[in-house]
Amino acid sequence: MSNIKINYKSFNFIKIENIFLFSSNKPGKKVCVLGGIHGNEIAGIEAIKNIIKNFKIENGEVCFIICNEKAIQENKRYIEEDLNRCFLKNKSYTNSYEENLAKELKEIISQFDICLDIHNSTTKNTEPFVICEKNAYNLLDSINAEKVVSNFDNLEPGGTDYYMNSINKIGLCVECGYFKDKKSILFAENLIINFLKKTNNIKLNYIKYTKKKYFLLNEVYIPKTDFKLYKQFNDFEELKKNQIIGKDGNNLVYSSFNSVILFAKDINNNTQEAFLLAKKIDNIKIIRIDKDNYEIYKDGFIKIYKEIFSQAPYYEIFSDEEVEKIYQLSKLETTVTLVALDDDNVIGLALGIKLSTHIDTDFKLLLKNHFNLDKTFYNAELAVLAKYRGQGIGNELIKKRIKFAEKMGYNIICMRTKEEGSMSMSLYKKLDFKLLNGVKSISKTKKINIDDEDIRVILYKRLANKT
Ligand SMILES: [Zn+2]
Repeated sequence: MSNIKINYKSFNFIKIENIFLFSSNKPGKKVCVLGGIHGNEIAGIEAIKNIIKNFKIENGEVCFIICNEKAIQENKRYIEEDLNRCFLKNKSYTNSYEENLAKELKEIISQFDICLDIHNSTTKNTEPFVICEKNAYNLLDSINAEKVVSNFDNLEPGGTDYYMNSINKIGLCVECGYFKDKKSILFAENLIINFLKKTNNIKLNYIKYTKKKYFLLNEVYIPKTDFKLYKQFNDFEELKKNQIIGKDGNNLVYSSFNSVILFAKDINNNTQEAFLLAKKIDNIKIIRIDKDNYEIYKDGFIKIYKEIFSQAPYYEIFSDEEVEKIYQLSKLETTVTLVALDDDNVIGLALGIKLSTHIDTDFKLLLKNHFNLDKTFYNAELAVLAKYRGQGIGNELIKKRIKFAEKMGYNIICMRTKEEGSMSMSLYKKLDFKLLNGVKSISKTKKINIDDEDIRVILYKRLANKT
C-alpha cells in the first residue's frame, strides 16, 4: 500500500501501520471507520483502500483503520484469538497478538464519537445487515440494509461497537454480505461514503434508506463438544420453535423459540459460538381512521374483525355488511377508530363512540340516569389478532383511545365488561376505571347456534377536562 501522509497529532503511539486520518480543521463529528477486524473479510479492507485514494473531508475528522494486518496477510480470520471479542472494557489482558492489538485500537477509537466497523458474514447468500444498539438508530437511515440486530452488547460483547457504547460513544457494525463475494467491496464503499454524508463529514445529501426490520439477539449457542449443522442455514432464515438446528456430540439441538438464525456453522470446540438466534421485533404502529384513510384500511378492518370475533372466547359470526356498518361509524367526528398496523396490514383495532350514537336503545336507557349521553365516550370494540397478543399492542390501543376521548372533550368514558375477576376488569381498574354499582347490561350475542345472553357490568372513568 502506498504511504499516505497522515496527521498523527492526536495519537501518542502508533504500532498499527494503516491508519489514515483526515482532519478538516473545522468543527464536526469525529468518525472512525474500521476494516479488517477479521483478516479474511475483504469488504472493509478493500473499500478503505479505494476510498482514501481521493477522500475529501469537509467537517470534523475521519479516521480509516485497516486493523488486523497480520491476519490479512495470512488471509485468516485471526492469528491467535478473535479480535472481535478482545474489546471487553475490563478484559484482563493475557498476551495474545490480538489482545495487544485491541489495546492499541481502544486507545485510538476512544478519541472518536462514532465507530463504524465493516465486516462480512461467513454465511453464503447473506444480505447486508447492521449490528447496533438503540443509541445508533438515528444513523440507520443512511445505511442500505434493511435488517438491524440489537442486544449484542448484552449477549455477545467484545467488539468495537460494544467498546464504544460502553464509553458512551456510538459503535456499529455492518455485515456487508458473504466474505468471498467481491460485490461486498463496492457495497461497503457506497455505505461508508453515504454514512459520512449523514454525519456531515462530507457535505452532500445522503441517500435515505428508511425501511428497517428490527431483531433482538436472544441466544448465543456455544457447543459443549462437537457441533454439526443439520443443514446450511442462511442468515435470518426463519426457524419454528423446536426445529432441529444440528447435533452437539450425540444430542440434537433445537430452536428454543420462533426465531431467525445467524452465523450458523460447524464448530468443534467450546470457545466459539456455533449460531445465534434472534427474534423479530415487529414494527407496529397505531393510527386513527379518518376520511383520508377510510377506504385504505376498510377491508383489513372487516377481515380481522370477523376473524377475531369468530374465535374463542367470542364465537360470534358477522357478515361483511354488518362489520362495514360498524366501520362506518368512523365517519362520525365523535368516533375514534384506531387500527394497529404491521407494515400496512391491520392486526388490531379499537373503536370508541359517543354514547348517544350507540344503536342499542335499551343500553342508552339504562345509562341515561347516570351519564350525559352526549358527553360520554363509549369504549366499544377492542381486538388484536391472536399471534400479536402479549406484546402490549392491546394496551397501547386502550391508552390511545383514552387520550383521544380526553382531547375531544368527553367528560366520561364508560364500557361494558365481564364480571369481577376478568382480565379486562383488572386491566381497566389499573387505569382508574370504576365499577358502576348495581347496574347490569344484558344483551343478545351472535354466538353460533346458541341463543345466549350476555351479562355485563359497567365501568367508567371521569376525564380530567371540564368542558
Ligand atoms: Zn467479521
